[in-house]
Amino acid sequence: MFGSLKALPADPILGLLAKYREDANPQKIDLGVGVYKNEAGHTAVLDCVKKAEKYRLDNEDTKVYIGPTGSPLFNDEMAKLIFGNHKVLQDNRTRTVSTPGGTGALRVAAEFIKSCKPGATIWVSNPTWANHTGLFQAAGLTVKTYPYYDYENKSLDFDGMLAALKQVSADDAVLLHACCHNPSGMDLNQEQWQQVADVAKSVGFLPVVDMAYQGFGDGLDEDAYGLRLMANSVEEMIVCSSCSKNFGLYRDRIGATTIIGKSSAAVDIAYSVLLYVIRVIYSMPPAHGAALVETILSSDELRHEWYNELSEMRDRINGNRRLIVDKLKENGVTRNFDFITEQKGMFSFLGITPEQVQQLQDEYAIYMVGSSRMSIAGIANSNVDYLAQSIAKVL
Ligand code: PMP
Repeated sequence: MFGSLKALPADPILGLLAKYREDANPQKIDLGVGVYKNEAGHTAVLDCVKKAEKYRLDNEDTKVYIGPTGSPLFNDEMAKLIFGNHKVLQDNRTRTVSTPGGTGALRVAAEFIKSCKPGATIWVSNPTWANHTGLFQAAGLTVKTYPYYDYENKSLDFDGMLAALKQVSADDAVLLHACCHNPSGMDLNQEQWQQVADVAKSVGFLPVVDMAYQGFGDGLDEDAYGLRLMANSVEEMIVCSSCSKNFGLYRDRIGATTIIGKSSAAVDIAYSVLLYVIRVIYSMPPAHGAALVETILSSDELRHEWYNELSEMRDRINGNRRLIVDKLKENGVTRNFDFITEQKGMFSFLGITPEQVQQLQDEYAIYMVGSSRMSIAGIANSNVDYLAQSIAKVL
């Protein structure tokens, strides 16, 4: 059976990380992997998570099966985080399930869409997170792209995006990044969200919103602004959330899929299908991460602490954006990199050639993916001078 297989290339980002780890240069910088790092370059467990883990250790008294939906308290808290006090919650038009990370949330959404319409097409932004295409195709969906990032002008190709979305069929799904677009850092503004919502309503496609970075852009509510606006306009929608970044729970694998239906009765039918989809893939989601998140969100004290820790992560990322742009100027770089300060979240494209990316790696031990996507959290006060000088030399 295995003899017919051809080896697949390793994931380029993981390959890059392995190379970085082997590099003996003491000045090496990792701008590849998309995880938050503090000033010391460490991805630490949040203090609020440590406290929630202590609480669970003292209070958890069973590991019995929990069911395909996961923990109802986690699901309720996640729905509130996503929608605030939006009418869709008051109208009981949403159902949320816990999933193994944001990836699991997307795969469950994809399988659910397949149950609605086998072979359906989903449109993703060009570019998009590298795993979107593979996971949607693996679920049997057809993947097509709409224009998004204008590499030349380092801006959003909004006209191209809107024109493409107007051509989408009512039977299709469209994937939108809620905030902190991966890989470009280029987000829609409020007016643009309204225009996309108007098109979604008039065309009738299903919006699938991927929110992997809530709180990393402008704030918890600010980052959900677009999807809440979308929920005002459309009758059906899916939101896929991840707690990997904003709770720092990467390896605990916790996220959520939320479906919005036309009515409470209609969404109940969809929900029964969603539960079946889960049952036949992994039966039930992991519970530990959900237990931590619900413990944090349902405690005033821990929630407050989380809010502060999340704000600190966001402020550091935004500060790093300013820092690198200022340092490039200080080092005599005349090319305009101001766009980096206007973009949001973990990533921006530096906008240099693949050869220059390779030169940064070979000569300066600075690691970023070939597209020149930089993970902004890898910048620190201790390495930014060396980084800016190296970029200046390569330019
Ligand atoms: N969506 C996007 C846009 C992402 O960037 C990521 C993680 N890099 C995910 C989903 C998946 O997140 P998780 O690690 O929780 O599976």
